[in-house]
Amino acid sequence: MTAPNRSPSAADDGALRAAFRAAFERELGLATQGTTVDAALRAAAAACRDLLAQRWTRTQAEDAGPDGQRVSRRVHYLSMEFLMGRALGNALAALGLEDELRDQLARLGHSLPDVLERESDAALGNGGLGRLAACFLDAFAEQGLPAFGYGLRYRYGMFAQGIEGGRQIERPDDWMKHGEPWELPRPELRYPVGFGGHVSIGADLRHHWSPAERLVAEGYDFIVPAHHSERVATLRQWQAKAADPIDFNAFCHGDYAAASRHQLAADSLNWVLYPDDSTAAGRALRLKQEAFLVSASLQDLIARHLREGQSLDTLGQRNAIHLNDTHPALAPAELMRLLLDEHQLPWHQAWAITTQAVSYTNHTLMPEALETWPVSLFEELLPRHLGIIYEINHRFLDDVRRRFPHDHSRVARMSLIDEGSDHSERRVRMAALAIVASHKVNGVSALHSELMVQTIFADYAAMWPERFHNVTNGVTPRRWLSQANPGLAGLLDGRIGTAWRKDLGQLAALKPLAADPALGQEFMAVKRANKQRLAARIERELGLAVNVDSLFDVQIKRIHEYKRQLLNLLHVVARYQAILDNPQGPDGKDWVPRTVVIAGKAASAYQAAKLIIRLAHDIAAIINHDPRVAGRLKLVFLPNYSVSLAETILPAADLSEQISTAGTEASGTGNMKFALNGAITIGTWDGANIEMAEAMGVENMFVFGLRTEAVAQLVARGYQPARFERENAQLQRVLNAIDKGLFSPTEPERYRPLIDHLLGIDRYLLLADFADYVATQAQVDALYRQPAAWAERALRNVAGMGWFSADRTIRDYVERVWAVPEGV
Ligand SMILES: *Cc1c(COP(=O)(O)O)cnc(C)c1O
Repeated sequence: MTAPNRSPSAADDGALRAAFRAAFERELGLATQGTTVDAALRAAAAACRDLLAQRWTRTQAEDAGPDGQRVSRRVHYLSMEFLMGRALGNALAALGLEDELRDQLARLGHSLPDVLERESDAALGNGGLGRLAACFLDAFAEQGLPAFGYGLRYRYGMFAQGIEGGRQIERPDDWMKHGEPWELPRPELRYPVGFGGHVSIGADLRHHWSPAERLVAEGYDFIVPAHHSERVATLRQWQAKAADPIDFNAFCHGDYAAASRHQLAADSLNWVLYPDDSTAAGRALRLKQEAFLVSASLQDLIARHLREGQSLDTLGQRNAIHLNDTHPALAPAELMRLLLDEHQLPWHQAWAITTQAVSYTNHTLMPEALETWPVSLFEELLPRHLGIIYEINHRFLDDVRRRFPHDHSRVARMSLIDEGSDHSERRVRMAALAIVASHKVNGVSALHSELMVQTIFADYAAMWPERFHNVTNGVTPRRWLSQANPGLAGLLDGRIGTAWRKDLGQLAALKPLAADPALGQEFMAVKRANKQRLAARIERELGLAVNVDSLFDVQIKRIHEYKRQLLNLLHVVARYQAILDNPQGPDGKDWVPRTVVIAGKAASAYQAAKLIIRLAHDIAAIINHDPRVAGRLKLVFLPNYSVSLAETILPAADLSEQISTAGTEASGTGNMKFALNGAITIGTWDGANIEMAEAMGVENMFVFGLRTEAVAQLVARGYQPARFERENAQLQRVLNAIDKGLFSPTEPERYRPLIDHLLGIDRYLLLADFADYVATQAQVDALYRQPAAWAERALRNVAGMGWFSADRTIRDYVERVWAVPEGV
């Protein structure tokens, strides 16, 4: 499965192979536990890392050269999350060393798939936003962009999901327990980061901040290779250390707990992503993490700029600083602090550099998800940053008043400080800070970008219309097609050649072939093999046998009310009831057998989402053991959703569930991965579903439900979900069954609150969309009865997905956001 079209020549290949073999043998020789699968995995990873490190050195040398050779400024992509997944398969494909490792492993009596399966996911993210950042790193390398991703090195990731008695339980995800052979420690990179303390003004009229707590940030690099060149991108992750690791005085007095207090406080910064923010300590920790990430990253980029012989005058021209959502929105305040206090620039120059460098991507329209922090917490942890934010705000609001005289309510709405009411505290609005300091702000799909300027950011867009734009997300075809689905990739190579591997737009060449019956059959055979692989995994993990000839209907994503896994479950119950009513099938035709697959984690404090997981398990327990539906319907919840699990599930999907309430999903990227793997979407007119439908032809997607305007109108008129229930006998029966405890006989009231919510408020309009959803699912069945027609549509999905490559997304960012400014 060596990827074709790699740049190295055959002679280079030989040298690379020899180097890999030598490194592999050396590492294996060092292994103390012999030649077990684990030892082989570590040795292979270390050998790849050595080769990638050479590419890293060459890439850095190229990028330190004059601007003329670069396609853009150096990009610094700041993100709290990078959902990287496994690395070995990707590195082997990029280096073209799959066959070599396979041979080496065979010698030891191991198989390559076993070794690949053994690797832990680097799950340093939560969902789509983190996976996007990982896809972008891949595209940075592939596009030859001089770029660094900056993140935190979380010791326990987010959490590992277990299921006990149908309920989600969270465990620490100890992904580094066998060491981290991919990491390149950078002990020479050490930056001080402070918290708390006080600010004074010196005789020189400059601000002097004396932090109470002093940490040091140490860098660890993870190298991300291109697949068609020897370029790499870097993910640099920060680890906190105490500036004074032990309190020697306390130690000498035998008080070891007190002696290690500083180090423990530093360690806790790197424990987990998104510490539970329901406690004050959790909130403070999270703000510290954000400040730590931002400060270390900015100090690193300034140091690099100066090391390359540049002056601060050109910092903004030569460096782009991109904020992936609001988590790193402190960056402009920290950059100002570094330029003003550490480098003694005047305000106007520091601000010009900051706004030239900074840009921001918004990822959600939900007002409750826009970060704000109490002013009191800033006073306690980041007093100097608060002062700078006040000054930015002061100057900004003067501008607003000039533009909109006497409009006091506008000034209050736009202020970086939410002044609060009598009962609430004053808070810093992080998204506002990001917008004010950015030269460009984008949403992640056409619809989302439009809604962003009409709703949450309307006031800012009125002030700076040219600042706002759209860049639709994309996914890397290396991981999500070539690696995840070698069967389909090989079929494409055979039919349209290999050009799509470098330029995904070439998938369009499939369009004229989509109706070819032979191709359709081959496509279905590949799909079936992928389904067999998934079925084997389901059997292994859950002890459940599923029918590989059933329609695999899949919804995998974070569990969230707006994503409407519950609507999916309502359909499953409706189908269950319909099968019992009418075992012969609708209209005398047999039922199309279905396997509904769900996977996803619920945030640990999100009770409503956890209840949905429990309901899925309760429904599965009844349906999967009811002999009356045997062979016609199964419901499968696969625990611990991750990148590597997605890589197994996506290629096996027939139907992709993208059913968020219109206007709530910013873009989605899962939708793109499914379609790229030849699954047909059942979806709402939301996020990037819309652009996908337009690219492939809307007749190739099953679109249902209220559109954004209709949702808004219904809500404005006063949405009464109970009316939809009264008018739909099928919906009544579904809700009634859940409400009466049919799926929770030992605790019939278990789902009462959930049903009460649906009938009373139903914030995401499940009941309004239910009838259309069920009717559209019947159309899905009808098409699935005609395999040739199904295959043709699935192939048209694949053919239409070329534009949704992360490579195109990155080119858009380069052109419109990260280009070297004119006249430089
Ligand atoms: C792609 C991906 C996501 C995002 O899925 P959506 O359906 O767009 O929400 C989340 N988690 C993982 C592991 C992914 O690979």
